[in-house]
Amino acid sequence: LGEPPAVDLVNTEWVAGGAPVDGLVTPAALREWLRLELAAGQLGGVGSAAPRLEDVRALRAALGALLDAALRGGPAPAGAVAAVNRFSAAGASYPKLIWPAGGVPAAHTVRVAGDSDSGAAVLAAIARSGIELLAGGDRARLRRCEGPGCVLYFVASNARRRWCSPRLCGNRVRVARHYRRHR
Ligand SMILES: [Zn+2]
Repeated sequence: LGEPPAVDLVNTEWVAGGAPVDGLVTPAALREWLRLELAAGQLGGVGSAAPRLEDVRALRAALGALLDAALRGGPAPAGAVAAVNRFSAAGASYPKLIWPAGGVPAAHTVRVAGDSDSGAAVLAAIARSGIELLAGGDRARLRRCEGPGCVLYFVASNARRRWCSPRLCGNRVRVARHYRRHR
C-alpha cells in the first residue's frame, strides 16, 4: 500500500473471502515484495540482497504484535520488542542527526561493521521504520482498515481516511451500500 515498510510487511497477511492469506510463503514472493518496496523508495540505503524468509516472517510477527498493541494502547509483548530491536541492531548503518550552526538539520548515515547490501541490512531498515512509527508522532495516526473483515493497517495522513485503499475496501463498501439502497 506504500505505507512505511514495517506496515507494508505486516500487511502481507490479509483476508480474502473471509479466509486468511499469507503473501510471503516462498523466497520468490519475498523477492517480489522487496522489489516493490525498493522501487517505491521505501528502503533507502540498502541493497537488494534478500534476507532469509524465516527471518522476515519472524520480524513480521513481532511488528504485527506491536502494531496491534499500539492500537490497543499497550502493553506491548516484551518478546516482540526484543525481536524488533535485535533486527534493528544488526544493521550496517544508523542515522545520526547533524545540525550545523546556521544550517538546517540533516540525517547522516553512519556506517558500522557489516554490509549494507545484505539481508541483515534489509531487516534492520524494516525494523527501524517500525521503531520510528511506534516511537514517533505517527503512532497516533496508525489505523486498521474499517472494511468488513479487512485486517490491513495504514498510517492516516488525513484524519478522515478509513480504508486501506479507496480502490479496495472503500470501493467495496460503497458498492455494498449502493446495492442495499437500490434493492
Ligand atoms: Zn481494507
